[in-house]
Amino acid sequence: MSSIIQLLPDHVANQIAAGEVVQRPASVVKELLENAVDANATDIKLIIKDAGKALIQVIDNGKGMSVTDARLCFERHATSKIRLAEDLFSLNTKGFRGEALASIAAIAHVEMKTKQEPDELGTQIIIEGSKVISQEVAVLPRGTSFAVKNLFFNIPARRNFLKSDTVEYRHIMDEFHRVALAHPTIGFAFYHNGSEMFNLPASSLRQRIVAVFAGKTNEKLVPVQEETDIMSIQGFVGKPEFAKKSRGEQFFFVNDRFIKSGYLHHAVMAAYDGVLKEGAQPSYFLYLKVPANTIDINIHPTKTEIKFDDEHALYAILRASIKHSLGQFNVAPVLDFDR
Ligand code: ADP
Ligand code: MG
Repeated sequence: MSSIIQLLPDHVANQIAAGEVVQRPASVVKELLENAVDANATDIKLIIKDAGKALIQVIDNGKGMSVTDARLCFERHATSKIRLAEDLFSLNTKGFRGEALASIAAIAHVEMKTKQEPDELGTQIIIEGSKVISQEVAVLPRGTSFAVKNLFFNIPARRNFLKSDTVEYRHIMDEFHRVALAHPTIGFAFYHNGSEMFNLPASSLRQRIVAVFAGKTNEKLVPVQEETDIMSIQGFVGKPEFAKKSRGEQFFFVNDRFIKSGYLHHAVMAAYDGVLKEGAQPSYFLYLKVPANTIDINIHPTKTEIKFDDEHALYAILRASIKHSLGQFNVAPVLDFDR
């Protein structure tokens, strides 16, 4: 009897994994920006053309890679960020799955340039659909540049299902906002089709929020601060009178990572109980820190959902501290005379 089961070749496995990790240009932007942050960059540039369909490039001044790592980083499950399963519960990096670069290289044309200190020379690699086209020694500054072109060139179904430039650009902007807000002490610049969209110098949290959202943001913000054994909270919530009809500027960061949580959102809304008009949505920028061993980040490839050990306690603390902040700033209840 012969067997019919075969192990998939690496490039096929990578392409399958890519389907999960890379949904659209914005997914590439997220992964590259997070890698730059993990490399301890203090300055990060994002350059895109045609909403990422023609080019996505991230240039950082981080620690760079050695010649061997420059090649290894494109292998699947190749990571410098964890070694043991236990490390999953003491993470202090954005990445750990060692999947992003292998996935991106499987479905796009990638040109990487990298140099680490104290090397004299850096490495330039071109890789297309998991195939290394060239690898050369090059004179480079310290840090890393990834240029990703022709995304989904070998998956026409994906390429054809990309939305309009306006929609894809909006998704990229969302990812840029999330990373830039999570790391105010890192400088970020963002260029689209040759125009500068953002130039954000390293700054305080408040300055970063105002720089990202401009306009009258500063006067809308009420500070929130709390310190307990199981969680610390820092950040700002919007004054109720500035609440909007649609959900927009609502951000949770847990241990410097943007996350989505319907449950914690509910806690925030509960804190506003009685001071918001029906259906109004407040802005919030809330930075939670919890011990790394009390959360599980590895429940989804994009890591925007996480599991907390004691969600109920966090809910109560969050709600109470926001309520307190709103009260301190003399936020009067809304009187709804129409009722
Ligand atoms: P992960 O981030 O989960 O480790 P990636 O596929 O995103 O997986 O990256 C693989 C490895 O390549 C990283 O662990 C890191 O060592 C290296 N790397 C990726 N991007 C950079 C960068 N911008 N600067 C330095 N090293 C990088
Ligand atoms: Mg990564």
